[in-house]
Amino acid sequence: MNDSIFGKIIRREIPASIVYEDEDILAFNDIGAQAPVHVLFIPKRVVIPTLDDLQPAHAELMGRLVLAAAAYARKEGLADNGYRLVINCREDAGQTVFHLHLHLLAGATLGRFGTP
Ligand code: 5GP
Repeated sequence: MNDSIFGKIIRREIPASIVYEDEDILAFNDIGAQAPVHVLFIPKRVVIPTLDDLQPAHAELMGRLVLAAAAYARKEGLADNGYRLVINCREDAGQTVFHLHLHLLAGATLGRFGTP
């Protein structure tokens, strides 16, 4: 079941600027970009609400999600200057969509993170 806004994007019920897709992963530009490049990588076929719901069975999928983001960064010429991958888990981290996703942030010197 895909009952979040990301489910609607996967099912093409609402538009998104899709930059990468394979059998298991969809990547699209974040609508509220926090950096010049801000792409979300999401699993297409399984809904994992938060990082806290991750199971050992998801290990390969999570690896593929990270590899897809790294490959995208390399292809787009972002790897030399660098980039950041972020997964927010629940309220204190600011998670707003409960369909696990990886943020790829790049294109500028990013501020430090983790402080309230
Ligand atoms: P979170 O805060 O849960 O880690 O990240 C959710 C992200 O999804 C936010 O950065 C937000 O801007 C993005 N987002 C929410 N709704 C939409 C949408 O309808 N389209 C796109 N492209 N991004 C969205």
